[in-house]
Amino acid sequence: MTSYVFPPEMPTALPVVGGDASFPVRRVYCVGRNYAAHAREMGGDPNREPPFFFCKPGDAVVAVPPDAPLEWKYPTQTALVHHEVELVVAIGKGGSDIAPERALEHVYGYALGLDMTRRDLQNEMRNAGRSWEIGKAFDRAAPIGPVHKADDVGHFDTGAIWLAVNGETKQQGDFSDLIWPVAETIAYLSRFFALQPGDLIMTGTPEGVGAVKPGDTLNFGAERLGELSLKVV
Ligand code: MN
Repeated sequence: MTSYVFPPEMPTALPVVGGDASFPVRRVYCVGRNYAAHAREMGGDPNREPPFFFCKPGDAVVAVPPDAPLEWKYPTQTALVHHEVELVVAIGKGGSDIAPERALEHVYGYALGLDMTRRDLQNEMRNAGRSWEIGKAFDRAAPIGPVHKADDVGHFDTGAIWLAVNGETKQQGDFSDLIWPVAETIAYLSRFFALQPGDLIMTGTPEGVGAVKPGDTLNFGAERLGELSLKVV
């Protein structure tokens, strides 16, 4: 048995709704600008851009409890943190070069997540032609709720997703507006990375992203995935 110079960290685990075991997180892949109206609000052209991806470390995931607000510490080195509510795909079966028509067989389940973003740093890096890492991949940058098994909730070609800040609705979208739906996203991503069980894919956010500050309460939900909440502290 290998002995380690310090104990290796266990993976972040998300509870599975209706199950005893938890879902261990490996990588977090994120799709950029996957709803037309959000691509436009970020200065892009939804008609001409193929999907693009960035990653968050698996240990940037923090589990949002199903029944109480997650207290989420405002990150360092930023004056502009944005919320992005997203459908999260939990991969249960790995693969490369997955065909779109077989892609949903690789899905274990779905969760609700927030792609929290230090927008000021992301924009600074973007404008300088540098990587988005410090804007997107910081500690606690991916609050994610419990995983709902696809066997129980089905798949998400359509359905509403929303987010409110202090009771005021800010984001409202529908999965039917995804430029790259779940199956095509999995197929495309699997050409570049060998997907593995435990991988999460954050599928992009609808329009209406905006700032959060300490003291704010975020409520976010989706049809068939319930509602969660987070308090910025
Ligand atoms: Mn996003």
